[in-house]
Amino acid sequence: MELASLVDLLDLQEIDLQIDRLLEQRQALPELAAYKAAHEEVQARNTELQTRAAELRQLELDLDKAEGELQILENKLDEHETRLFAGGMSGRETEHMRLEVQSLHGQKSAMEEKVLGLLEEVDPARETVQGIEADIEEIESTKSDLEKAIKTQWKTIDAELARKEEAKRSALEPIDAELLELYEKLRGIKEGVAVASYDHGVCGGCHMTLSPAEQEEVFASDLPRCVHCRRILVA
Ligand SMILES: [Zn+2]
Repeated sequence: MELASLVDLLDLQEIDLQIDRLLEQRQALPELAAYKAAHEEVQARNTELQTRAAELRQLELDLDKAEGELQILENKLDEHETRLFAGGMSGRETEHMRLEVQSLHGQKSAMEEKVLGLLEEVDPARETVQGIEADIEEIESTKSDLEKAIKTQWKTIDAELARKEEAKRSALEPIDAELLELYEKLRGIKEGVAVASYDHGVCGGCHMTLSPAEQEEVFASDLPRCVHCRRILVA
């Protein structure tokens, strides 16, 4: 293996590490985590909204029904009272009607209380639903801001990545195919670092020392590799 090829490999390694860092940076943007959290919150709030909206609908239905029943009672009471005031009934009929009116008054009061009770429940339920809707709108707006920030940063990173990929294409040219294959294989199993510089008896990959005898043996080879981590060494 020619020395020039190994030095080229070290250049390639540097570019690949820069690309790795950029890709990592692309996926590690704080805005991405915030976006994910906001997205999950919207989902949770939507689930809550469905439950609360269903409760509100039921209350409104109950209220409609109670108001309808109250109206019927009021009409009936009006009718009966009109007939009572009009007179012309027998004593027994009058007494019967009077008792009926009394009973209707009781039913009406009970229904009025029911309506009032429901009104007291409907208002807070409506406020709760509106509150959740407002929260969702706010989070959606935050999400949209985050999305813009992410896209802007990705654009910058991707432009930088494109430059690095271009540099990588040039760096690849002088490298032997077999050596490149080994390099890629080592990158995959050695945390992305296949080639290390060898400096003052220390491997730049695993930072362990090679004895003078090991050093001599390693560099007698066409392809020097660290005795400890097996990375390719460039002196
Ligand atoms: Zn090593």
